[in-house]
Amino acid sequence: AKQEGRGRLRFYEARMGVQVRERRRLEHDLRHAVERGQLRVVYQPQTRIDSGETVGFEALLRWHHPERGTVPPNLFIPISEETGSILGIGEWVLRETCREAASWEKPLRIAVNVSAVQLHAPGFSELVHEILFTTGLAPARLELEITETALIRDLPRALATLRRVKALGVRIAMDDFGTGYSSLSNLRAFPFDKIKIDASFTRAVDSSEQAATIVRTVLGLGRGLGLPVLAEGVETRGELAFLDAEACHEAQGYLFGRPAPIDTFRHLTTKAPRT
Ligand code: C2E
Ligand code: CA
Ligand code: CA
Ligand code: CA
Repeated sequence: AKQEGRGRLRFYEARMGVQVRERRRLEHDLRHAVERGQLRVVYQPQTRIDSGETVGFEALLRWHHPERGTVPPNLFIPISEETGSILGIGEWVLRETCREAASWEKPLRIAVNVSAVQLHAPGFSELVHEILFTTGLAPARLELEITETALIRDLPRALATLRRVKALGVRIAMDDFGTGYSSLSNLRAFPFDKIKIDASFTRAVDSSEQAATIVRTVLGLGRGLGLPVLAEGVETRGELAFLDAEACHEAQGYLFGRPAPIDTFRHLTTKAPRT
């Protein structure tokens, strides 16, 4: 048994070694991903529930690695946050998406995810200002999605930065609401324009009374604070019917469209030709 235990330990150590090497490789490759043109942005429509019209898109990052194929953001973004390469990557995403949105015929919103590391880096609001100026995008069309976890690192600093960004006319959405800490006081203290309900709650509204109660409560909170609410991860008609009945403002999810290159949604960004 002792022998077996040692064997397992060696196996474990060997696997750890592989994982560490794997990670180092990814870290290394990530540093060059921008300059090698391996990053792409895909877009997912955000829809007004009462009218069914598309009001904007969320930008979601994809990394096309030459050997590994598409690496999911949940894997590479945490690594890029630890190594700091998220700063270059995040700047690229912001510039790319603002440039793209500025070219649309319809003045739809573009929602961009911002990591805690970007938010707390010096000069973030100046960077946003410069990118809006360079791309010519109207500030009110840009919405930055920020998670609660991104704020708590340094609340006063995050608040000061968000105030400066807001002063440019940019909108701020609280992302993944309900999954982080101390949501209520942050909602009150921070200059949010929107609450995004996390997909884990949306997904369960038609199967779990608990999830339905949580979503109703967030909608009530939004009403009380005068903030519109968007539900993420809407996949079924049943979920949408629930949200509609509860007067949720906006929805996003596979039911309306999977994240895809913007060309897939060209019909939504162009004005209908006059007939
Ligand atoms: P998120 O901000 O919560 O984005 C929503 C995620 O849900 C996306 O995953 C999207 O593809 C997925 N999704 C959308 N509709 C549905 C649906 O109906 N059902 C299901 N099951 N999933 C749906 P994705 O694209 O893999 O991104 C994962 C996370 O990576 C994002 O979560 C966000 O936190 C982060 N991320 C993505 N792009 C960026 C970026 O440019 N910068 C930063 N900092 N983070 C990003
Ligand atoms: Ca988001
Ligand atoms: Ca989410
Ligand atoms: Ca469901």
